[in-house]
Amino acid sequence: MKYDVAVIGAGPAGSFAAKRLALMGYRTVLIDPCDNKKVCAGILTAQYVREYEVNDDYIERKLKGVRISFKDVSAKINYRQAVEYSIDRQAYDNFNLNEALAANSKLKQDAVVSVLETDQCVEIKTKYDVLFSDYAVLASGVSDLASHLGGPKEYAYCVQQRIDTTPGDYFEMDLKKDGYSWIAPRKDHILTGTSSLIDYPDIPGDKALIPVGGPVQRTFFNRLLLAGDAGGFVSPFEGEGIYYARRSGEIAAEVLAGVMSGKNGMEDYEKRWKKEFDFSALDMVSDLLADEYVLEMFVQEIRDNEKFSIFVENLLTKESKDLSPWDISYLLKKIVD
Ligand SMILES: Cc1cc2nc3c(=O)[nH]c(=O)nc-3n(C[C@H](O)[C@H](O)[C@H](O)COP(=O)(O)OP(=O)(O)OC[C@H]3O[C@@H](n4cnc5c(N)ncnc54)[C@H](O)[C@@H]3O)c2cc1C
Repeated sequence: MKYDVAVIGAGPAGSFAAKRLALMGYRTVLIDPCDNKKVCAGILTAQYVREYEVNDDYIERKLKGVRISFKDVSAKINYRQAVEYSIDRQAYDNFNLNEALAANSKLKQDAVVSVLETDQCVEIKTKYDVLFSDYAVLASGVSDLASHLGGPKEYAYCVQQRIDTTPGDYFEMDLKKDGYSWIAPRKDHILTGTSSLIDYPDIPGDKALIPVGGPVQRTFFNRLLLAGDAGGFVSPFEGEGIYYARRSGEIAAEVLAGVMSGKNGMEDYEKRWKKEFDFSALDMVSDLLADEYVLEMFVQEIRDNEKFSIFVENLLTKESKDLSPWDISYLLKKIVD
């Protein structure tokens, strides 16, 4: 049987793309080997919670804010309105996959080996089979498949481990000039992790990659769209990716529905995500914070200057869309002058 759309990868990008397509009545198949233990700090950000319903099936803890430190300087930001949760990432992915299946998407538990666009269809070879669809969404995260199909090439190397200790109520970020270490509180334990732009930190734990180069050069082809991490949709400062994965998956589904009903073209995908995702401000912050002196001033200013603290809170929680990159560079430069 030929599907209308094959969605490769059942993370948030894939499951939400498949759910939306299946709800609109398109014959949809999700392909994922479902054998991948995901390494994730599991913070469901304020941006996500503002826009989407969350479910007790996967929520572990409501967070009060974020603690940011650099060497021995430390500052705490208590969220005034924003709400963030830490989640059980496996339970979250299972929940979303079940929603896609309930919407009538099929699931093929298999790994995709190659994807070929022809004039008539997309030919998808899996480890054990060959499938055909009119269109496809590549939502396979950071994977060999994604890098063969134009996915991200630059990464932050992360190592994370579980520690059985009493959790706090803040997400903690210990900044370094080429990344940060974190503590993510869960229900009854914490996850600690470290990232580096150079190589995997030499510490025990589970390894994983976060794309850091921003959206990839081409996110749409004749019959294929790249969503989530496969498209490089990750916020460059703190590595938030779940929201962008879900949203890009949904946009991909809507654009494909438009293509199949003759209302729009594949290129509209890029127009749509560009209109919604603006990484320029956080990109600029990330570049400026690659200097140890600026980092120290940055944390001191959050600690001592309420206005600046609110500014960083807005930036992290994406509460204000009004801050232009120029405001940000002006503010950060001001603190180091
Ligand atoms: C250490 C770490 C901590 C993070 N913490 C956070 C956080 O706290 N908050 C946040 O918002 N983001 C966080 N992120 C980022 C977030 O995890 C990702 O951005 C998000 O998972 C991307 O979703 P996705 O659906 O694009 O890809 P994924 O969630 O990676 O899903 C991809 C799916 O594709 C499948 N797949 C791979 N290859 C194939 C293939 N060949 N064939 C078929 N299927 C395939 C995989 O099995 C997987 O299920 C973190 C990332 C890391 C590495």
